[in-house]
Amino acid sequence: MKGTFYLVATPIGNLKDITLRALEILKEVSYIICEDTRQTKILLNHYQIKKPLISYNEYNKFVKTPQIIQLLKEGENLAFVSDAGTPIIADPGYYLVREAIKEGIKITPIPGPAAMIAGLIVSGLPSDRFVFEGFLPKREGRKRKRLLNLINEERTMIFYESPYRIMKTLNTFLEIFGDREIAVCRELTKKFEEVLRGKISEIIENLKKRLEKQKRVKGEIVLVLKGKEK
Ligand code: SAM
Repeated sequence: MKGTFYLVATPIGNLKDITLRALEILKEVSYIICEDTRQTKILLNHYQIKKPLISYNEYNKFVKTPQIIQLLKEGENLAFVSDAGTPIIADPGYYLVREAIKEGIKITPIPGPAAMIAGLIVSGLPSDRFVFEGFLPKREGRKRKRLLNLINEERTMIFYESPYRIMKTLNTFLEIFGDREIAVCRELTKKFEEVLRGKISEIIENLKKRLEKQKRVKGEIVLVLKGKEK
């Protein structure tokens, strides 16, 4: 019998944000496939789970995928996690899941935290219809092109953004979308959790003042932007 491939969501900050079922599965499986073994070990040590780890990322996926599929075919149950949050969402694993499906392997989700959902629900912006845009391209030209395609989007838009690019991105948003409502959700579930809500121009002013005192905006960020008014 083939093994089951569990896609397990892990915390996005606070280590307590993990489901009982996720812990049960992590304890039961023969191997845990993860991105960065050091990162996953922090979680496993916290819950006193000892398991062999297999590292998997965008660079080794073509070598590791057949090995992982082989283990599943031999009947091993495996768990797949990312560094934080829900695997496959702006994280590695899509290719592996496709290959596992081709081989007729049973894949089971163990749902839990995802930064995009945490950001959306805390944003105060409409959550009945939304789109997840993931990370924007780093290059300014490509980024603008992507944003211009969203100019008539009426649904709430969710982006992942680096603290290094946040000011630049907010200025580009202001230029392309006008002064809409936005929420900058930073360090969710962590010690310095913060949600800045307001017009794009207000958030820019707020962050500018902050940057007079510190070098850069810190932490992990989800941006939630209001869609176009009907
Ligand atoms: N798969 C993960 C998920 O959906 O939760 C996301 C992985 S992606 C590589 C990492 C990005 O998610 C960060 O750059 C940031 O934009 C967002 N993120 C992750 N944890 C966060 C947190 N605690 N607070 C705010 N944003 C977070």
